[in-house]
Amino acid sequence: MPFWTEIDRGLQDCFYPRDCVVTQEPMEVGVGRYLSPNGAERLERIHDPRCDTCGHPFLGLIEGDLTCPHCFELHPAFHRALCPFQAHGAVRAIIHQVKYYQKPWLIDDLVAAALQDPLLRRHLLGATLVPVPLHPSRELDRGYNQALRLAHALHRAVPATEVAPLLQKSQPTVSQTRLGRQARRRNVLKAFSLKPTAQIHPTKRYVVIDDVLTTGATLHACAQVLRQGGATLVDAAALAHG
Ligand SMILES: [Zn+2]
Repeated sequence: MPFWTEIDRGLQDCFYPRDCVVTQEPMEVGVGRYLSPNGAERLERIHDPRCDTCGHPFLGLIEGDLTCPHCFELHPAFHRALCPFQAHGAVRAIIHQVKYYQKPWLIDDLVAAALQDPLLRRHLLGATLVPVPLHPSRELDRGYNQALRLAHALHRAVPATEVAPLLQKSQPTVSQTRLGRQARRRNVLKAFSLKPTAQIHPTKRYVVIDDVLTTGATLHACAQVLRQGGATLVDAAALAHG
């Protein structure tokens, strides 16, 4: 994202009232820079009960084992993934703008709203945040990696965290959007590797960071690379599940 684009946006904010990205109404104060309190109310949050492993929400009351059928099958390499939002409605629309309409700054607004949930703050506290990498050609096209931007936004807000871009995507993968569970897993299995300079410390807790968790295949593949590199404590977090 060019520096002048950020400056231009800052100047526009000085002269024109900002509109909430969800309600489209002018706003003065908000949960985030472009997210009003009313807009934040419309983001669909995930509440308990949810899958202990991938954060998938269960509808209604459930007792006993809190593992969803998908995690029984996948055996993810991450211990626990936490996602504050469902990838529906306004959340999905904002992430779409971040990824495909050159508005990476909206990540900061989702992070501000996400961290109103103390569970996410606790999940990240003291962790080394490892963003899911993009293939260099994709990052060049987009101009930024939204997962890296997300990791930095979380790091600024949660004490005792650090950002460590330890992974690289060495093989481009076709878009996951239209693939089924098994195909997604095959698609990403060998796509990620450790950067040659990466150093893994077995005593650190790593949290792999991505914008959306759909089947968990990407976060699983990244967690697996970290474990193969010597990591023993690997969790994951994504803004949205679905
Ligand atoms: Zn699950």
